[in-house]
Amino acid sequence: MAHYTQKYDLFLGATQSFCHRCGNLKRLIDAHIVSRADEVYLRKFCPKCGESMVMISDDLDYYKRCDDYLKKPDLPERALTKVVQGCPFDCGVCPQHQNHPCLALFNITDECNMKCRICYHRSEPGAGNHRSMEEIAQMLETLLKVESEPDLIQVTGGEPTTHPQIIEILRYLKASPVRHLMLNTNGIRIAQEEGFVHALKKLGGGFEVYLQFDSLRTEALKDIRAQDMRSIRLKALEALEKADISTTLVCVVKKGVNDDEISEIIDFAGGYRCVRGVVFQPVQEAGRIEAEGAFRITLSEIRRRIIEDDSNPFEDADMIPLPCDPHKICVGYAAKRMKEQNGKAYAELYPVTGKIPKEAITQQKGTVAFEQDRQFVRSVVETVSLDTAMGEAIVGDKIKQKLFCCWPSFLAPQEMGYEHVFRIVIMEFSDIYNFDAINIKRECNFMIEPNRAIPFSTYNMGIAFSQ
Ligand code: SF4
Ligand code: SF4
Repeated sequence: MAHYTQKYDLFLGATQSFCHRCGNLKRLIDAHIVSRADEVYLRKFCPKCGESMVMISDDLDYYKRCDDYLKKPDLPERALTKVVQGCPFDCGVCPQHQNHPCLALFNITDECNMKCRICYHRSEPGAGNHRSMEEIAQMLETLLKVESEPDLIQVTGGEPTTHPQIIEILRYLKASPVRHLMLNTNGIRIAQEEGFVHALKKLGGGFEVYLQFDSLRTEALKDIRAQDMRSIRLKALEALEKADISTTLVCVVKKGVNDDEISEIIDFAGGYRCVRGVVFQPVQEAGRIEAEGAFRITLSEIRRRIIEDDSNPFEDADMIPLPCDPHKICVGYAAKRMKEQNGKAYAELYPVTGKIPKEAITQQKGTVAFEQDRQFVRSVVETVSLDTAMGEAIVGDKIKQKLFCCWPSFLAPQEMGYEHVFRIVIMEFSDIYNFDAINIKRECNFMIEPNRAIPFSTYNMGIAFSQ
């Protein structure tokens, strides 16, 4: 008989999860979503291990607000697997999934020139397994079945720059119908090989480097990456700045290790013209990391660090739930203007997301078609034009500028391009602790295999799929 002893204030809903105590990934268990004081928990009950509570948000108000941002789902164009055992055992993508791939990850190798403590893929030197061009062509074919005009492909691994055909692969994918291509890298090759940076530059617009960048401190880097990466990261950033290659900094956040650096990293990122923003990812249990304990952190805790710290301009209204997966992705966009003081570059940031009416965002037909809605576009431009220090510069001859596949296209004057955009994204993946069987159906990051498109979290969790 089930014994629930943990007290709570509000019952917010029921879902299913997995038991992180026995680690059984073959059987879903009941889970209630409840709040206690201002915190939100998954209250699970495992027939074998009993009751457990996992905090999924430290901000009840924001948690409730997320549901107000839900929009009509954009479904995958085609399912690749059938419903056999039910979610999440039919991944690949099955007909129950409620979101298209906003981001398609192509894992091109298991090899890596590092051995990070937090590697979700357990990559390390000697792991090998470079995918062939034929396999990569199959992956692309698979993605195009699910999404004929993909928004974003991210080439990942392992460390993708260890693949001997990395440039050929990037060129091949760039020539596909994808709108934006990213290279997810630890930056070692970029820091060390000028010729490699030139080859990346030749890929042209619509290409971006997604650069691992967790901390500015030695100790935190040693904790997360098992080595002090500071000089590599700085050299890589200098090379990207010199070559003017769009770059996003990616920080895995561990509580008590680097969560006190969030504003500092935003400020640091602003000092580089090439940096388009920062992505913060709470550490998750996957691959080499066991994420139980005091270093777990939720999306809302990271968001709180950003909005409560006056040293960055983002406030509560500026960091909002992304409509396609509101509980798991939070975004803030700012217009960016570079300045210089005492020979040092810095960015003035003018957050704009809080100025766009919520209805204008959530009533859109699709995540990729915002720019088609003239009324929406006008309201965004008018709001931004009247209300930011950019002032009249934004009114006038506007051009379409795609910022992010899930986010409305942002109109800007002709002299204002992608280099004047700065975005903060907090992206939380699911693991055995916080898994919610309802929310997983909204995941929009997919790992693309030669015959499957698998939501990134279920892929990382190592769930045995039915087909
Ligand atoms: S997570 Fe999505 S693709 Fe996987 S089984 Fe559930 S609904 Fe299907
Ligand atoms: S996290 Fe990235 S850089 Fe680190 S070992 Fe894994 S693949 Fe390599």
